Amino acid sequence: MESKPKKVLIVGGGSAGWMTAAYLSKVFGRQVNISLVESATIGTIGVGEATFSTIHLFFKFLGLQEEDWMPACNASYKLAIKFVNWNAERRHFYHPFQRYEVVQGHNVAEWWLKGDREECFDESCFVIPAICEAQRSPRYMDGRVYDNLFAKQVADCPNDSFLLRELKVQYPYGYHFDASLIAKFMAKYAQERGVTEILDEVDDVVLAEDGSILGVQTRAHGRLDADLFVDCTGFRSLLINKALGEPFIPFSESLLCDRAVAMQVPSDPQNEGINPYTSATALSAGWVWNIPLFHRTGTGYVYSSAFISPEEAEREFREHLGERSKGCKPNHIKMRIGRNRNSWVKNCVAVGLASGFVEPLESTGIFFIQHAIEELVNHFPGNSIDPATVKSYNKAIAGCIDGVRDFLVLHYVASTRADSAFWKATKTEIRIPENLAENLELWKRRLPTNRTINPQFHGFEAYSYSVMLLGLGFRPTEGLPILDYCGHAPALKQFENLRSRSEYLVATLPSTYEYLASLYQDNGRKKEIYHKAHAAPVAYPQSRPT
Ligand SMILES: Cc1cc2nc3c(=O)[nH]c(=O)nc-3n(C[C@H](O)[C@H](O)[C@H](O)COP(=O)(O)OP(=O)(O)OC[C@H]3O[C@@H](n4cnc5c(N)ncnc54)[C@H](O)[C@@H]3O)c2cc1C
Repeated sequence: MESKPKKVLIVGGGSAGWMTAAYLSKVFGRQVNISLVESATIGTIGVGEATFSTIHLFFKFLGLQEEDWMPACNASYKLAIKFVNWNAERRHFYHPFQRYEVVQGHNVAEWWLKGDREECFDESCFVIPAICEAQRSPRYMDGRVYDNLFAKQVADCPNDSFLLRELKVQYPYGYHFDASLIAKFMAKYAQERGVTEILDEVDDVVLAEDGSILGVQTRAHGRLDADLFVDCTGFRSLLINKALGEPFIPFSESLLCDRAVAMQVPSDPQNEGINPYTSATALSAGWVWNIPLFHRTGTGYVYSSAFISPEEAEREFREHLGERSKGCKPNHIKMRIGRNRNSWVKNCVAVGLASGFVEPLESTGIFFIQHAIEELVNHFPGNSIDPATVKSYNKAIAGCIDGVRDFLVLHYVASTRADSAFWKATKTEIRIPENLAENLELWKRRLPTNRTINPQFHGFEAYSYSVMLLGLGFRPTEGLPILDYCGHAPALKQFENLRSRSEYLVATLPSTYEYLASLYQDNGRKKEIYHKAHAAPVAYPQSRPT
């Protein structure tokens, strides 16, 4: 390729393919010819339904407000992940989209640890657990987000990428949505901006002498050529692994779960309400996700096939669901866990499951897609594909996926649960990545800080690490000695403030169902109010109840 890429061909039309098409069409408009070929017969994976809070940035970049896309995608709010039965005491805890507040230069978790407080750490240090338990919406009926503390810019870093820079902004929630509906929504958005859809099956990939891709051979449309190919063919990974022979690095030594059985179960939101959180409930050989959408619930058992057969897993899963599973069709899925050695090779970039995947424990699949697309835009080729640019892209992607892997390994090794062969194996049989093993030694004494977690960007900050450690029962013995030299009164006041703020929010916010029902019914009016609220955010009244 001796000139700027003029033609981009995306192969695959799941959420990865259509999110890429939508984003690139917004970036390049019609200056780059973008096409997407997808099979009408090979299905999409279609279970990715919970997101990171950074997905806000994706919609923001596309110029979409919640009113534009949420009703079309059966979407609901996600404020946290509720972990159930992950510790020996079987006490649940929340991993919320809320960072710690700081007292005298130290975060409230450090103060909690030092103070030996009786209240659970998550309920003491955050407002989100109370909001979740009460099924409250993160927005008031007029569209205001509940606490504009979260909209504060933490730092201004003009040299960071859009995603990194915006990550410094607090968002109090992510979303749950129907993955196949989001792909449909993105397809419409992309096609309205000039992306051509080709419905056909790719049978072969034609290589040039230098090993790059010339084109893909389709059944009905002949050979489709392009300057740059984006492999979004899911676990099949047709271009990057099969045609270009790039090795895939499995994570099976560190993460034992390799299968899932998923179901869509009916729900009754009007009577039962909508939980504004994802839950992850540990079972004998893995864990169950539960994702409440507006009209139904998505659920699935992620398990290790070394410890339970698909039939036994389905039986245990149905027992866990009880009556709700009656008549629901199971979808058994084999998961390819790991990443490509390189996700950009020659003129081919893999995005989505074709690039890499870890089990969906922290809802990172769609985040990986968003991160890859943004890095692709940052590294988009000029007049040639230069090796240093490709290397930089590959380093960013590998660092992100490996960092998330390490964070997930922490979920298992730090958990105090060891009541089945699977849970015992998570303590004795898995390889703990070196960096994590070293950090765990330190974290036995002290909580993680941003200096001691994996310094490469991977989406999780130190607060997430310490929430997981404390929730899983891995409590540091020491805490920060420096706090012994400080007065505790301001910290006690802050805990009191957090408690009264939780009570205030629970008392004043509408229920998630109430807010979403009105959003779904009344798009136009809500939109107007939303825009007004964003122009002049209203602060939490600091003087409110004591
Ligand atoms: C069990 C499970 C649970 C998950 N939960 C979450 C979650 O909660 N949150 C989250 O963020 N992510 C989650 N994910 C990940 C998420 O589902 C995926 O990242 C996302 O759906 C993207 O998938 P994809 O587009 O890469 O692949 P797919 O959805 O598999 O799409 C592949 C596309 O390639 C096309 N294709 C394949 N072969 C050919 C061919 N020969 N010719 C033409 N087209 C072809 C197919 O037709 C399809 O359009 C989960 C994944 C799994 C497995």
